[in-house]
Amino acid sequence: MNGVNNVTVHAVLVPFPAQGHVNALIHFANLLASRGFFITFVNTEWTEKRMFGSAKLKSQLHYSKPNFRFLSFPDSLPPEHGRTSHLGELFIALVKRGDALEALLRKETGNGIPPVTCIVSDGVMSCTISVAANMQVPRVVFWPFCAAASIAQKYAYSLFSQGHIPVKISEGNRPEKMITTLPGNIPALWPSDLISFYREQFTSDPIYEAVLFESRMSDMGEYVLANTFEELEGREAAAALSNKGCPSLSIGPVFLPNFLEGENSTQSNMSMWEEDDSCLHWLDKQRPRSVLYVSFGSLALKSQEQLDELALGLEQSGYAFLWVLRSDIAQGQAAVLPEGFEERTKDRALFVKWTPQLKVLAHPSVGGFLTHSGWNSTVESISMGVPMIGWPYFGDQFLNCRFTKEIWKVGLDFKDVDVDDGRLVRREEIESAVVRVMANEEMQKKAEELKEAARKAVMEGGSSFNNINTFINDMLNRAKAQSQSFK
Ligand code: UDP
Repeated sequence: MNGVNNVTVHAVLVPFPAQGHVNALIHFANLLASRGFFITFVNTEWTEKRMFGSAKLKSQLHYSKPNFRFLSFPDSLPPEHGRTSHLGELFIALVKRGDALEALLRKETGNGIPPVTCIVSDGVMSCTISVAANMQVPRVVFWPFCAAASIAQKYAYSLFSQGHIPVKISEGNRPEKMITTLPGNIPALWPSDLISFYREQFTSDPIYEAVLFESRMSDMGEYVLANTFEELEGREAAAALSNKGCPSLSIGPVFLPNFLEGENSTQSNMSMWEEDDSCLHWLDKQRPRSVLYVSFGSLALKSQEQLDELALGLEQSGYAFLWVLRSDIAQGQAAVLPEGFEERTKDRALFVKWTPQLKVLAHPSVGGFLTHSGWNSTVESISMGVPMIGWPYFGDQFLNCRFTKEIWKVGLDFKDVDVDDGRLVRREEIESAVVRVMANEEMQKKAEELKEAARKAVMEGGSSFNNINTFINDMLNRAKAQSQSFK
């Protein structure tokens, strides 16, 4: 845990307790740890229990590195609470947990642990504001969305004041409703691109007020980082996330530097489900770019009827597929596959509960990704050169899906899902999209270009590489100044 000139930078990282948010921050934490930072990674107790249930990763990450530790604090919800299945209640509970988090950090500092230099907080974890202020360290806001979605969230309260929120989805396609006032030189947004919890139907759900509250709080921070790269979204986009002129930099894709290094313990996500590695052996036996990977992330649900259509659409496409069937995917239940379907597709299909997704997307046999368009999945697919079919569910996924298709041109989508996520997507549409994405040379070429751009960004001399160095140097200077003032 040697810092430069015997000063150790101690970063405390605090993700929102959901899989995608934790993944982004754990990769960034690993990156900082490999550059000599001392890392305290703070989960809620619920998340920690889910992630370390198998004890596999904890031993990999925790004990193999002297400069990396995990801490956890209670979210105050009862044990039987679904957490991510009632996101609004989870947000509201967390808003009030600043005191618990601060008490934990104060208790667990000293005794050879370097003083805290900064708190790297998820952009939607406002409970860290008081902690950073009371501990007199900078709050570094880490946006786990793409820059455009982060801007839309940061400015949501202004959009609310201007009457854009709540979003009337029936007016979502009217050109005069397009949002052109956001900064950062981002493309104009349809109302349906905003975080979906701002839609009219959510106004009586606690999530609506909770995300609006987080939006109002999001300018409390002295440094801003975004998990995107300049070549994808432009330098101005990250700059528009600045709070009162503070540094605001694109540093992503944060998983990529360590992934490219091939360091085993950092090649995986930190999963709440047991990863099933057997799919990698299955992929080894398939032809290059012949397999469609199907996964809807950690939270998206589908109706049983929709899963039936999806299964039959995949079958009709004739392509091989690897399908992640999370144990709760059918509205909280396990999916029931159509009669005879597994038998009919057994020579070209594999079903798993959870994959090592980074390795799957990097596998040469994978030629397309049917995804819910979560930002991590999207940026992982971009970094691996895999074209996508977007099928958004909630949150920022509608924006990610549209940008993937229209702006970055590495994906397709299904008509009107952006304004009616309850619409049944028929098997013929699924079949057609699969065929179009798997056999699309133009999209493939574009995907290769973006893959190269992402890799260039994180390699020595690249935009994200340089921005990470700027951040590291700034924090090192703070740590040095801090150590001087202690003398
Ligand atoms: N993921 C995984 N294995 C799976 C499915 C997903 O490791 O079988 C990971 C994926 O690589 C990504 C995260 O889970 O890092 C999902 O995050 P995303 O932002 O895409 O969606 P969310 O789950 O937050 O909706």
